[in-house]
Amino acid sequence: MCVFRVEGCGVSDSDLSSRVRPAYAQASSLEEIRGNLESIQGRIAAACERSGRSLSEVRLLPVSKTVDAERLRLVYAAGCRDLGENKVQEAWNKSVEMADLTDLRWSVIGHLQTNKARVVARFAHEFQALDSLRLAEELDRRLQAEGRSLNVLVQVNTSAEPSKYGLAPEAVEAFMRELPAFSSLRVKGFMTLALFSEDKVRVRECFIRLRQLRDRLRDSVDPSIAMDQLSMGMSGDFEMAIEEGATVVRIGQAIFGARALPDAHYWPGIPAN
Ligand SMILES: *Cc1c(COP(=O)(O)O)cnc(C)c1O
Repeated sequence: MCVFRVEGCGVSDSDLSSRVRPAYAQASSLEEIRGNLESIQGRIAAACERSGRSLSEVRLLPVSKTVDAERLRLVYAAGCRDLGENKVQEAWNKSVEMADLTDLRWSVIGHLQTNKARVVARFAHEFQALDSLRLAEELDRRLQAEGRSLNVLVQVNTSAEPSKYGLAPEAVEAFMRELPAFSSLRVKGFMTLALFSEDKVRVRECFIRLRQLRDRLRDSVDPSIAMDQLSMGMSGDFEMAIEEGATVVRIGQAIFGARALPDAHYWPGIPAN
């Protein structure tokens, strides 16, 4: 993430890409992955301690995009049972490749086009990027057909960056009122991506905004809608997110190592670093 971006030093983008993420060494053995998981768990525990929260309130969701099935089997061997993927086709392909691991659960955490709802309905355990009623309707219809249900988080754009997906905070209340109609969706709370910035104050504001939105709406929504979950924080900012109330942190590079694909591939419009 761009917390590590080097700015104004007169180098080209391609020079930058090799410098941006020096902290994330590639982890390709079980020992390396275990070591990274342990160090992250330690940092999660310390952030909980600092903010007077219980460790059991915070779930680590390993984010496995671009990581092949062979390395994902290592994270499974290290005890992880949930994997987050940004793109549904990649998640589906891996779920087929790893179908022998029957207790592995897939969480789709990236923007979904309505015409791909069918794929999510078939295999995902969780979907963290719900941001339109059309998509809710299509997911519900496909889930009914599969006889399945799906845990869902509503994605909120807390940074007001036009490039980000998710609902504007002002639109969330009305949106939540419509969700009880979709009986296959088990709504659990909210997800956000913070501002891509080195300005920690402004990044933290995004996390605060999501928590305050949740707290404000908590008592006004239908009781069938849960609002406990706040999925926020990634490799570069998860401790701050926990201090502000995160219950799910989505962490990729700090477990597996830097990705070759720039983040702009997943979030069109952000600065390519
Ligand atoms: C890739 C991704 C993450 C994890 O980012 P890292 O920098 O690898 O920790 C979190 N959330 C979403 C939606 C992602 O696509």
